[in-house]
Amino acid sequence: MSVALRRFITMNKLYIYSLTLLLMLFPSAALSDAVAAAADSVTIEISQTPSEIPPGDAVLINLKLSNNAAMVSGKCYKHDVYFMKQGDTNEYFAIVGTDVSQKGDHVKLSIIVNYHDSEIESFDFDISLIAVEYPVEKLTVAKKLVTPPKKANKRLAEERKLVKAAYAKTTPEPEFSEPFIMPLNTKFSSTFGRRRIYNGVPKAPHNGLDLRGNVGKPVKVSNTGTIVMARDLYFTGNTMIVSHGLGLHTAYFHLSNMNKKVGDKVKRGDIIGKVGMTGRVTGPHLHFGVKMNGLYVNPLSALDVFNDYYSRSR
Ligand SMILES: [Zn+2]
Repeated sequence: MSVALRRFITMNKLYIYSLTLLLMLFPSAALSDAVAAAADSVTIEISQTPSEIPPGDAVLINLKLSNNAAMVSGKCYKHDVYFMKQGDTNEYFAIVGTDVSQKGDHVKLSIIVNYHDSEIESFDFDISLIAVEYPVEKLTVAKKLVTPPKKANKRLAEERKLVKAAYAKTTPEPEFSEPFIMPLNTKFSSTFGRRRIYNGVPKAPHNGLDLRGNVGKPVKVSNTGTIVMARDLYFTGNTMIVSHGLGLHTAYFHLSNMNKKVGDKVKRGDIIGKVGMTGRVTGPHLHFGVKMNGLYVNPLSALDVFNDYYSRSR
């Protein structure tokens, strides 16, 4: 368990000055009380857990406001970040993904707080990163899966659009109310972030977790949500994508069988398909992906962060 880093941002709101001006013009007991109350500056306390993360991990952001707000929203990598209010308190949590290819020691999270008096505070928080060297993995697969033939271009372009549309489907509220689970309780055959070289050609880093399993082994959905994709794709084979709300999705690739269709509601642990070896694979396994604010993150970090959230939320 890592210690949370706490940072404080104190802001004096503009209306303190306008009230001070009024007091100078019309001194009265009532106004003087108002100025005293307003002079207690608005405090925003923000922290991240873990206190630093490797690029590609998810992080838990905790925001505590001294004043009641109407709404808190955020953006990271130009994607929406959803803040979850904790009961009647002025405390919020958000779960944010970082880019595995991110350089430098931080990534910017922009936050906007809308108060009931229609005042707005906007500020940036730097999510702290630590450098890691992901291992290199050399793989040999069928040639057409490294350099697809020209005739596959139309299909690939169409599939990119469909995947993008599936990931665009979300709800601002979570569909789940419990931590995420692993879809298979087996060992990993490949971890997240590995720099992959297919038949000698460097490709994008591995954007999920590969779980061992023979063809036909049942695959559980990681959490409650809605199926937004269930179809055969060129690289990822039989592909299922589940929307969980909050801009968060889980993905299941290379399946031999898919037993849910688009629009189906699923509960955490439901069997949605079976392990297979469809698409670009060297053998049977389940590729498990977790996507949030537009980025695939390390599924293990995402599971940890949600466990942490449920142990701290109210
Ligand atoms: Zn994989």
